[in-house]
Amino acid sequence: MFPFDIFLCIRDDHDLKLVVLAAAVCLLTSLTAVLLIRQADQEDAKAAHRFILAGGFATGFGIWATHFIAMLGYDPGVISGFQIRLTAASLVMVLISMISAFLIASKWRRPPGLAAAAFIAGIGVAAMHYVGMMSLEMPALIQWSAPYILLSLMLGTVPLFPAFSLAFRRRTRASGLGAALIMSASVVGLHFSGMAAIKLIPWSVGTDDALFSPHIMSVMVSGVTLGLLTLAMIAWLVSRRTKAAIEASERRFSILAKGISDCALYMLDRDGRIANWNAGAQRLKGYAEREVLGTHFARFYTPAALSDHRPQKALGIALERGKFSGEGWRVRKDGSRFWAHVTIERIDTETGAHVGFAKITRDMTRFKEDQDRIEQTRHQLDTALEHMHQGLCLFDAEERIVLRNRRFVELWNLPEDACPPGTPLMEVARVTLAARLGGDVPEERLLNIRKQLQLALSDPDAPPAISEFGDEFVVAIASRSLPGGGWVSTFEDITERRRSEAKIAHMALHDGLTGLPNRTSFNRWLDVEIEHAGGRAQQVAVVAIDLDRFKEINDAQGHAAGDEVLQKIAASLAEMAGDGEAVARLGGDEFAAAKLLEHPGDLADFVARVNACFAAPAAAQDGFALGASLGIAVYPGDATTREVLLNNADLAMYRAKSTLGEHICYYEPGMDEKARERRQLANDLRQAIPRNEFRVLYQPQHSLKTKEVSGYEALLRWDHPRRGTVSPLDFIPIAEENGEIMRLGEWVLRSACAEAASWPHPWKVAVNLSPVQLHQHDLPEMVTRILVETGLSPRRLELEITETAIIADKTKALHSLRRIKALGVSVAMDDFGTGYSSLDTLHSFPFDKIKIDKSFLLQSQSSGQARAIIRAVLALGRSLDIPVLAEGVETEEHLALLIGEGCAEGQGFLFGAPELPPPAAAGTAIKPDNKRSNGS
Ligand code: C2E
Ligand code: CA
Ligand code: CA
Repeated sequence: MFPFDIFLCIRDDHDLKLVVLAAAVCLLTSLTAVLLIRQADQEDAKAAHRFILAGGFATGFGIWATHFIAMLGYDPGVISGFQIRLTAASLVMVLISMISAFLIASKWRRPPGLAAAAFIAGIGVAAMHYVGMMSLEMPALIQWSAPYILLSLMLGTVPLFPAFSLAFRRRTRASGLGAALIMSASVVGLHFSGMAAIKLIPWSVGTDDALFSPHIMSVMVSGVTLGLLTLAMIAWLVSRRTKAAIEASERRFSILAKGISDCALYMLDRDGRIANWNAGAQRLKGYAEREVLGTHFARFYTPAALSDHRPQKALGIALERGKFSGEGWRVRKDGSRFWAHVTIERIDTETGAHVGFAKITRDMTRFKEDQDRIEQTRHQLDTALEHMHQGLCLFDAEERIVLRNRRFVELWNLPEDACPPGTPLMEVARVTLAARLGGDVPEERLLNIRKQLQLALSDPDAPPAISEFGDEFVVAIASRSLPGGGWVSTFEDITERRRSEAKIAHMALHDGLTGLPNRTSFNRWLDVEIEHAGGRAQQVAVVAIDLDRFKEINDAQGHAAGDEVLQKIAASLAEMAGDGEAVARLGGDEFAAAKLLEHPGDLADFVARVNACFAAPAAAQDGFALGASLGIAVYPGDATTREVLLNNADLAMYRAKSTLGEHICYYEPGMDEKARERRQLANDLRQAIPRNEFRVLYQPQHSLKTKEVSGYEALLRWDHPRRGTVSPLDFIPIAEENGEIMRLGEWVLRSACAEAASWPHPWKVAVNLSPVQLHQHDLPEMVTRILVETGLSPRRLELEITETAIIADKTKALHSLRRIKALGVSVAMDDFGTGYSSLDTLHSFPFDKIKIDKSFLLQSQSSGQARAIIRAVLALGRSLDIPVLAEGVETEEHLALLIGEGCAEGQGFLFGAPELPPPAAAGTAIKPDNKRSNGS
């Protein structure tokens, strides 16, 4: 009964031991096949191909062996042999079909491919089975049962599909076992349903075909089976080992990857969701694995990066090119940021299916900060270099520019792109020099540059080398070697500094107003010349020059006019001076000239030329013939040192000044004695008031109409303990010079006022006022104080001032005078006719009296001009309604002249000399015989 016959067939017609063996071989074969297939999956393409071939081959053999073992167990006991050709054909068939099926299934693992493979394999096995049956040599005929044949075909093909599916598409051990069992079952099923399909009808037919005897066949099948077993063992062992190794390595790798803590290592699925997480990731990003698994990795990006779709872009690149790497800010769980270096790699399966990405993130914040700092420092350095006041050039050991700043090219007037990195030193030298020299550079100058450079580099303390291009450009070049070869040179434009240094040097040696050499410079010249002259037995003459009446010009016409005069004089002196001659302005109105004397007539000629500078019209100023006093001293005759030489020339000059009619004086021994005396006198003067050495004399002033005394002029006398009586003409200038005049003037005023107050008759008392006193700011207060102290009526006091006193500072002087006049004190203009005698002064202040200087009356006898002046002054007085007093009335002729011309008052020896004690009697008449010259 179908299909129960199969069971009967196995039980009745087979040796069960061999049936079990066949089944075992078949299972073994199937297992081997699965092992080889699985092994192939773990190899590279070439080795995989070989494993698949081996799998097909082994399976073919195994199934063939299964078939023949089963056949050997077939029990009809009639089999006498196996036809060799058909046996071989059956083997070839099953081998071809199995190898083909394996190849197809391994290449094309989708269901249609697997179905095709299952079909090919099944048909192959069936073909082998039936061809194998036909190879049997036995004394019987085979009768076929169609249903069993069909069943055998079904069992041989259909189960192979799931078997192949499990073997080729799954990985697990169970699926492998399942595949092997199904495959074995299919083969066994085919075989035994095929066996059930035959019925043997005894029949004896001889054959010529070559036969394998059952004995040989059993040996062969045993051999194949053994080989198969061995093959299976080897395959299994290899597989197991490989698998263990892979597992161990994977485990190790996983531990490694999980444990790595200095970088985040994790995987993303295809959509970018986090699939696993390592210690480094946790440490770096702060999230625990459970917090992030399954979330999108974009959570680590900054909002800015997200709005730029960075995560998507990164994945896109990794997907497309296999790998993405980049850097950027990432955010930790606590919100802090770190600079990340990220690598994303696409992960595919062996079959090329994209499963996700591996992602490595490293914290590069430190590195980034360092980079940034370096970048910033670089930037700062660049800025500093560019803004340096100096030009800078850095050279390497090969003498080529490494870098240079902008100032360098500016400094040398080079185009902006000149001297780029790499330019050799000599080229730099040539270009820079050419730019400044404006043409070809002399070879020698180029070589000099190298020499200077070597010098500078060999000595770290060397001062900068100075390179000059006329006055136009002066540059200081400093060079220092650098560690590791090369050097740095800096260039500083010191043109301006040089110019101002030169200017300062010039200023230090020249007078600012006139540009003439100053005292320092003159002294240097003298020192040099004196030294030369000393060695050559030559002479050096010095001319000390002091302008006469310069102060008057300054006072009368202002400082600008005075300066102009000085400049004119300086110009003519400078023009006059020739070789071996020097001129200088020593200060104020002091000049000096000097000459190295070589020939006998030199000195006279030189003095004449110097003198001419002051006689020339250039020096004449608005009617004033400006003169100068010249004093000459000669080295080595008059002095052996520069100081003494100058001093003696000065002494000679003073002599010239004080000697009437002589304005050039040569030094003579003894002159210094006079100067010493003057200093001594100045000293003594300070002690004179406390020592009571002064007294005041009084000289009467007479009205020429009434002939009566109208007042007295107070005239100072100094009774010097050693010198006797000293004239005010000698000591007043000294007192004015050293300031003693202040105390002295006050003393005189107080004495005179006190004296006058004691007089029985209210005569006026006239007191001389020095110009220095007039400029004393509290003069009116002093006068008031003294008047109050002495009780003298202001109406009885007259102050005599000279025109010079007013002109020095007119505004201030007039202001003082007005205040004094306001007290009721009268003011007389003294010595009229000797100074400026300008109408302007007379107009500017209401003088109470004009005193004609005594020199005019004293010369009136001999000089018509003097008489004319007297007349003119008297006329002026009349027109201005100011009474005029004539000084120096010595004779009756003088008196007659004055009376004839209508002069109001007179003063002189004819009326009385200055005398002490003060006048006691009132209304003293003219005493023509009283011609004392006391004190004059
Ligand atoms: P002065 O103001 O022109 O004074 C008149 C000078 O002429 C006096 O000389 C007087 O002695 C002199 N004298 C008078 N009558 C005659 C004469 O008939 N013939 C000649 N040849 N001379 C006559 P003294 O006293 O030597 O004074 C000289 C100058 O000293 C004065 O000139 C005056 O400018 C100044 N002086 C005198 N005393 C003082 C004073 O107390 N203070 C100031 N600041 N200067 C004074
Ligand atoms: Ca006077
Ligand atoms: Ca006078």
